[in-house]
Amino acid sequence: MQKAILSKLTSNHSHFQAEKLLKHVLDSGDLARARQVFDKIPEPSLYSWTDLITAYTKQGLPHESIKLYSSFRDKSSLLPDRVLLLSVAKACASCAHLTKAREIHEDVVRFRLQSDRVLGNALINMYGKCKFYEGAQLVFDGLRVKDVISWTSLLSCYVNCGLSKRALEVFGEMGFTGFKANEMTLSSILPACSDLKRLSSGREIHGYVMRNKFDENPFVSSALVDMYARCSSLKHAKLVFDNVPRHDIVLSNVMLSAYFLNGESGCALNLLDQMSAQGVPLNYESWNTVISGCVQNGENTQALELLAQMQKQGLKPNHITITSGLPACSSLECLRTGKQIHAFISRNGMFEDMTCTTALIYMYAKCGKLEVSRHIFNMMPSRDIVAWNTMIIANSMHGNGEEALMLYQNMLNSGSKPNSVTFSGVLSGCSHSRLVEEGLRVFDSMSRDHLVEPDADHYANLIDLLSRSGRLKEAYGYIQRMPMEPTASAWGALLGGCRVYKNVELGRIAASHLFEIEPDNPGNYVLLSNIFVGAKLWEEASHIRKLMETKGISKLPGCSWIQVKNKVYTFSVGDKSNEQSDKIYKFLNDISDKVRLAGYLPNTDFVLQDLDQEEKEEALCNHSEKLAVAFGLLNLNGETSIRVFKNLRICGDCHNFIKFTAKVVGVQIIVRDCLRFHHFKDGTCSCKDFW
Ligand code: ZN
Ligand code: ZN
Repeated sequence: MQKAILSKLTSNHSHFQAEKLLKHVLDSGDLARARQVFDKIPEPSLYSWTDLITAYTKQGLPHESIKLYSSFRDKSSLLPDRVLLLSVAKACASCAHLTKAREIHEDVVRFRLQSDRVLGNALINMYGKCKFYEGAQLVFDGLRVKDVISWTSLLSCYVNCGLSKRALEVFGEMGFTGFKANEMTLSSILPACSDLKRLSSGREIHGYVMRNKFDENPFVSSALVDMYARCSSLKHAKLVFDNVPRHDIVLSNVMLSAYFLNGESGCALNLLDQMSAQGVPLNYESWNTVISGCVQNGENTQALELLAQMQKQGLKPNHITITSGLPACSSLECLRTGKQIHAFISRNGMFEDMTCTTALIYMYAKCGKLEVSRHIFNMMPSRDIVAWNTMIIANSMHGNGEEALMLYQNMLNSGSKPNSVTFSGVLSGCSHSRLVEEGLRVFDSMSRDHLVEPDADHYANLIDLLSRSGRLKEAYGYIQRMPMEPTASAWGALLGGCRVYKNVELGRIAASHLFEIEPDNPGNYVLLSNIFVGAKLWEEASHIRKLMETKGISKLPGCSWIQVKNKVYTFSVGDKSNEQSDKIYKFLNDISDKVRLAGYLPNTDFVLQDLDQEEKEEALCNHSEKLAVAFGLLNLNGETSIRVFKNLRICGDCHNFIKFTAKVVGVQIIVRDCLRFHHFKDGTCSCKDFW
């Protein structure tokens, strides 16, 4: 029937009829069919263009909306109006497509619509989603008449960009100019206070909330509870919560999270009981919060009990329950719980649920069991984008850049469309394996072939890739050409490269930016000081260390841990608190001679104190990762590999030492530092000495 109408269309059927049919098909929700109808209309009206563009965004296909708008601009003789521009601005917002967002903004200016407030607000919101605060501020400044939505969108943009201080300033300016914050403004600004841990500002806002009677609004009170909880003021979170006469499920769940965040699992479980007693229908959300909360607080047994309890009440744990619990199992201590949940998934036939399987893949990868992840991934009957991304990231984490690239290729071949996360995974994989040309190619193809605009993280990945391979000038060039403000990770990557390749000049530049962006991060000072030490610029190195002292910044203490027979043992530098300390130091002494024979040379660049050579070598011997490795090797219990975890970056000398140790003792040693996994075997490391 419709086919008949379609063919009629081509033969001069009235324009009106065709557009009516399009509207009808669009209402039925059949987008593919609607597109066919649309494509047959010789010159679609502005309404038809707008309707189809809007429909794409509504159905979660913003890229299609954007493409269609481009062809509208190319092919149609019509000019866009505010409704069409509003619609496509929403599309750009929902997929955070900065390049297109800028084009839409240009069109708004070109067609003299820049003083339209509603459109302006949509542009501010769009730039906010693209994390491009410069654009949002520009649109905002250009609006002759502003309303509370303009102000709220602007400050949300700053919150979204992580510029919480600026967001609070905007909030202040808003008050000065006489605008009254509404519930949206309040729930948007409160996270800025949590982010800055600025309890005083949070309290002021709370005062405003009380004075203006917003305290019964569920969004505002939830944001307040969350703010107090994140500023470690659980007492006040509880007061706000108790003041709300009726607790809806959203607010109750925020309170549950607040308890867990502050380590009060007991209170959380009490609240859960109260909720069931008061007949508040416990939804999956509530169960999931408590189960993942328990796991996060290390109460794995409790979590598993709750899982059982939930089933008894007739609620079958769904994939969200599983996936909210599993990621928390990714620390070494939780591998056991992770395995139990794995068994649970198998028993309950939940393997068909892709989300569960994907969470398992990630959990095993983070626990250092990449081979299990690979096995589960290969068994999946079909894979969605999240599954592909997870497996790509898993490989990148373990330094298997080649495999990450191969998976990416397979993913493209299977017809899946890569998204922003995919590219972060692939690029970081390339960077850990020094696949420079491949990485550059992937980066270039992002917006050209896949319509994914590189964001600040992708740039940081690329800069990391170039820096690790010693192409520091090129990396610096990319930083200078970034369309957004370079982030700390971008400068940090350059600084890291400068340490490895001993580039003092660029190191200074990178560090000076880092000192501005994150003045309290000790890592930057240590890296710069190491660069100076490497170049034998002792005075400058000691100047940096003095700077740290005067600013009161202390180096985060390094620690490493290892699990032996279900117990976790932690070591700090020079630690002698372990029962087997004597054995550990003797072992390190003995192995030192053996690894030296195998070719290991201690690299004393990593010791900052002004000691003589022999003392320096001794100082290297007591780094936490060496102690943990020695302890692991002394307590092998027949295992052929050991797994050590470290909170900071592994030091260069320990890296070298462990490489040779793995060769001498013939045991595989896996070290996860704060950046990645290192698999040491037969005298080499999977990171190929770059991390
Ligand atoms: Zn070390
Ligand atoms: Zn390594």
